[in-house]
Amino acid sequence: MADILIIEDNPANMRLSAMLLMAAGHSVMRATNAEDGMRVARIRHPALILMDIQLPGIDGLAATALLKRDPTTAAIPIIAVTSYGDVTGQGMSRGAGCDAYIPKPLHYRALYDAVDALLTPAVAPAPVA
Ligand code: MN
Repeated sequence: MADILIIEDNPANMRLSAMLLMAAGHSVMRATNAEDGMRVARIRHPALILMDIQLPGIDGLAATALLKRDPTTAAIPIIAVTSYGDVTGQGMSRGAGCDAYIPKPLHYRALYDAVDALLTPAVAPAPVA
């Protein structure tokens, strides 16, 4: 179980992503554009970000590059979500610093596999010296 930030401007895709992640026991934060998403990431420090690539204003690849350059957010894994059939999508996503890539339409198995692969087990509290 983890806090996951979804950055997605399409309401139907947002609903589906949130539903699938919550069904897997995660808690979800939502942003509908990159600016809001980056703000939430800096303040709330999600365990993972699900990043739509096509966003109004700053797109998901540019936002990923900014988050990966910012020391406060650089360690947060980012899964890029981009249109099915976008042959350049995967390479561009990696180039921007995305940790994984899944195509739209979103398939639950691809989503869960990518999320599980990137979430690290919770760190046990440090013993009190
Ligand atoms: Mn979009």
